[in-house]
Parts: sequence; C-alpha cells; structure tokens
Amino acid sequence: MFFYKCNQCGREYKRNEVRYLCPVCGKKYKFGIPLTGVLSVMFDYDEVRDKLRKSRHDYKCISAVEEKYFPPYKVGDTPFFKVPKLEKYTGYKNLWIKNDSLNPSGSLKDRASFLIAAEAERIKEKKIITASTGNAGVALSAVCATTEKTALIFLPSSAPKAKLVQMLIYGAKVMKVEGTYDDAFKQSIEYTNNYEGLNRNTAYHPLTIEGKKTAGLEIFFQNGRKVPDVILVPVGDGVIISGIYKAFFDIKMAGIINKLPQLICVQAKSSDAISRFIITGKYKNAENVNTTADSISVSVPSNAYMARDAVINTNGFAITVSDNEILRAQILLASTTGIFAEPSSASVVAGLIKIKNQNLIDSKKQIVLLITGNGLKNIEAPLSKLKLN
Ligand SMILES: *Cc1c(COP(=O)(O)O)cnc(C)c1O
Ligand SMILES: [Zn+2]
Repeated sequence: MFFYKCNQCGREYKRNEVRYLCPVCGKKYKFGIPLTGVLSVMFDYDEVRDKLRKSRHDYKCISAVEEKYFPPYKVGDTPFFKVPKLEKYTGYKNLWIKNDSLNPSGSLKDRASFLIAAEAERIKEKKIITASTGNAGVALSAVCATTEKTALIFLPSSAPKAKLVQMLIYGAKVMKVEGTYDDAFKQSIEYTNNYEGLNRNTAYHPLTIEGKKTAGLEIFFQNGRKVPDVILVPVGDGVIISGIYKAFFDIKMAGIINKLPQLICVQAKSSDAISRFIITGKYKNAENVNTTADSISVSVPSNAYMARDAVINTNGFAITVSDNEILRAQILLASTTGIFAEPSSASVVAGLIKIKNQNLIDSKKQIVLLITGNGLKNIEAPLSKLKLN
C-alpha cells in the first residue's frame, strides 16, 4: 500500500520495519539540532489516481492508516471560504480562509493526533506520548478520550492555561517541564526510548505529517479541484507546512495536477530558524525565542529540512512578523471575518499585510490563509491591545 522514504538519504523502508526516523540518518540526530532522517510516506500513485478518479471528493484513499482503525473523533471538513471585507482591507481580490480552528479541540493538530491514534490502534499500543507547546497535547488528549488509550503530555510550564485545562478535562496525564518546548521534546523521546508507548512528537513520527496533510487535500477539493496560487502557513516546527506540501505532492504524483501552490512560511521574528534557513541556506537555531505566539515558539524546529524544501520546491518564500504586528493582525482578522484566532494563526494575516506593502504577490492571485488555532486558547495575548469602549 505504501512505503516510507527517508527525506535525506532516500532509503526505502516497509511500513512495519521502522517506527520513527530513518535508522541510518536518524543516528546523526542528537538533542539540540533539527531531526535528521524524517520519513515520508510514498504511495502507489497509479492506485491513488484510479481511486481519485472514481470518488471525486473522497480523499481518504490517500491515507496511510486504514479507515477501520480510525477513532470515533470527527476531525477536518473545516470551512473554506472567501473573505470580502478582509480583501478590502488588504487590497487582495481573491482572498480565502481555511478555518482549521474549527476542529474539535480547536486546532489543526487534531488531524495529526487523529492519525497517530489510528496507527496506535493498528499496532496495538495503549499509550501515546507527546511533547507539545500546547495544541498537539490538547488534540492527543481529546482523541484518546474517545478510545481506550491514554495520553501522556510533556508540557512546558509557559503553556497557556486554557490548553492545560483542555488536556486535564479530556483526562490526559500531564508532565510539567520546567524549561522550554525543546526540553519537553527531549524528555518525551527519552520516555519512549526507556519506557513504553507510541511517541507522537511532531515529525519524529512520520504520520504527523500525513495527518496534517488532510488540510491541504481539503483545500484542493473545496476549491473545486483547483490549486490555489498561494497558501500562507504559520510555521513553528515546520510540520504543518510540510503536510500541506505533501498534499499537493501526492495529487501531483497521481497525475491529477501539474502545478503546486506557492507556500509562504510565516514565522514570529524571535522564532525564525526555518525562515533564516530558507533565506540564507544555512541552518542555525533561534537563540532568544520570546514570542506571544506560543504555538509557533520553538528554538530548534524539528522539521526544518523538510519545511525548507516545501518552500523552495514551490517557489515560495519566508517572512517574519513581530508580536506587535501579530496582535494587530489578530484584531483585524476578528473584526473583518468574525474569526478569533490564536496569535500563531494571526501571524499569517500580519504576513499578508507585509507582503502587500512590499508588493511580493500580485493582488489578483488566489491566496489562502491557513487559520490553525482558536483565539480562546490564549486570551492573555490580545488583552494588552484591547480597550473597553
Ligand atoms: C502547531 C501549530 C502551528 C505550527 O505548526 P508546526 O507544524 O509546528 O509548524 C501553528 N498554529 C497552531 C495553532 C499550532 O497549534
Ligand atoms: Zn536516511
């Protein structure tokens, strides 16, 4: 049905032969650098083409886990629509939103956690472990609540309270990490190396990329099986942008399309390791990460290599925005579309404004803003900008 292919050396592995990284390239991985040997899922694309032609809307045929293992947790099928008032404010004429903050636990992370829970069911693992800035853990907690599985979350103490509340109410076990998300990442991998369970760390488990891919597939189908010109994606670890890339890669490999959307990597100024990597070609960790956009706050992005390829291969580019620009964009988005998004998601609106000011994209192009998380998950961030009137 599919095999895994290493993003770095190109070696191929059978599905049950590996679990996380490429056994060869993964050996070079140590804590404090981006993951090496991240795996991609490669399908039989003739088969995918036949299936896609038969069922014109059902993209579940490009899934790396069989439907019979799916948990009873309804992710995806989120709205995709045009935003006339935001068009007027930004000067773009064909501006769309994919509102993934409407997933059940309030973020796009539901898609990845869903597929990992399905995989855990397939390989009969009862416990799933993840490091999280917040949303990945929330999503894993929620999907586990619908099954007999337990979720164990390694969470940095700086995570917003609402996300911790979500995890606890879904019944997860939360390990508070005195340190950053990067420390949590390390501790969670040590846990699954030394103890038990399936590790869901983003990009470390290749199916997190496949899970997030479904957002890209939906954009394609909801857009009438057409490829939009540009998609703006908020980037932390670089897995969502890799997933969006993979969606269009799969459809192209199946011979259904021949162009790819330009993927724009949007990051917070202080958490900009992938953007700098794209611009300079040299990788270096972000040293002083300090952004209110908690979901994209990361010093060592786990999927830096694949994310950079996604942008370069689609002729995209990277842009960074300040916290001040993010918080202003958060208000603009809410007051023109009715969507209260997390700061991380509002970063794409801030990015769009910058792109317009610098004339980087033609105003007639079809542009999609990927809104990834709900604003109620972090109400402290916008509070400083709001006044009672
Ligand atoms: C995780 C997350 C992101 C960033 O995704 P990466 O895969 O880490 O790049 C953006 N927005 C929200 C709301 C998230 O939860
Ligand atoms: Zn390899």
